[in-house]
Amino acid sequence: MYATTQRCVFCGTEYPLTHRGSCTRCTGPGEESALHETLAVQYDVAALKRQLDRDELARRPSGLWRYRELLPVVDPAFRVELGAGGTRLVPLTRIAEAIAGNRLLMKVEGSNPSGSFKDRPIGVAASVALERGARGLACLTFVLLLGAAGLADQGASVNVEKYVQISAYGAEVVTPIGDLGQLYALADRIEAEMGWSFMHNVQAYQTDGDKTTAFEICEQLGWRAPAAVFVPTGTGTNLFGLWQGFVLFKDLGFIDALPRMFAVQPVGAASLVAAWEAHQAIPSALQRIEPNLAPPISHRVSGYHAYKAMQESGGGAVAVADVDMLAALKDLASYEGIYAETASAAALAGIRRALALGLLRQEETHQTGIVGILTSHGLKNSLALTQVLPAQTKVEGTWEALRSYVERKAGAL
Ligand SMILES: [Zn+2]
Repeated sequence: MYATTQRCVFCGTEYPLTHRGSCTRCTGPGEESALHETLAVQYDVAALKRQLDRDELARRPSGLWRYRELLPVVDPAFRVELGAGGTRLVPLTRIAEAIAGNRLLMKVEGSNPSGSFKDRPIGVAASVALERGARGLACLTFVLLLGAAGLADQGASVNVEKYVQISAYGAEVVTPIGDLGQLYALADRIEAEMGWSFMHNVQAYQTDGDKTTAFEICEQLGWRAPAAVFVPTGTGTNLFGLWQGFVLFKDLGFIDALPRMFAVQPVGAASLVAAWEAHQAIPSALQRIEPNLAPPISHRVSGYHAYKAMQESGGGAVAVADVDMLAALKDLASYEGIYAETASAAALAGIRRALALGLLRQEETHQTGIVGILTSHGLKNSLALTQVLPAQTKVEGTWEALRSYVERKAGAL
């Protein structure tokens, strides 16, 4: 195996690969902090350079394990193989910005088996846990769910689609009501006392799964990185994982240049944007989160690791309003045939915001290209949209009634 240690990207402390939880020098258990997810798996780049050949890699089947040397699992028997990865990178051709000459591409992560990019990080982290002999697996916001992971304390309800989907796979869904800090504390207690393996305690391995998205993007662009990547961002781990992936590919000599990383957050839940504007590398927790249409990326605090990726890459952070995410969602569906969750459509809304603010240069948008990460399929959260999309029109089921309606409609156009 080429994975060597876990290193804290804030303080530099190294931990063995078997270490669980956060960097103990940077945070305590249950603390609400931007320094929770600072560990990153390190690889022996020199050995990988001798072993890995770009052209040979290109001939392998698509999916997570195409990049097996760059993932921390030794025995193939423990690889979770449910078809994660290998998602499309789709050039937008019909929306106004594309027609105006901008080269925009969307990485459609909603086509992963569970409809979410999370199949990558959880797939890798679960494989690691199984290889280490875990007796039971559990995830926050997956199994100890939503009562806290959403905005239950502010009156929001459980996401029915996610609950049903998870239950169908056979998991028991428990929803303690409380905030995310309480949920983490409870999870750690279960792990300590009952021996379950919680996925957030192997965060660095989740980040490794997220890296595969960056690897695929580089390959799909012909072994180069885009000019900028826009990532809908809650905790920031996906953005950080993508960045780690681009950096590793550059270290291996597979690509020549790195992209600028941009976080997109909902207005009212944008701790990274606030930190970015205040030049505060360790984002502070927001006093409260304003309700919005993108609960998956609404957290009181995002991570230092994401800030660091934005800073190192020369990127930034933008906040987008519900109305902009909805417009992006509808445009992606109606013009481009891609139905993404509201929180995912934030990627396109964020690109539009950055264009409006002049954050992107013309050679970036017109030549090298900008990639948005559409993190989840629209079917993950359709019911929430019944409140904001037009209601269905009911007409009597006769030809006369229908013709009359259609003619009135046509007359109105
Ligand atoms: Zn640390």
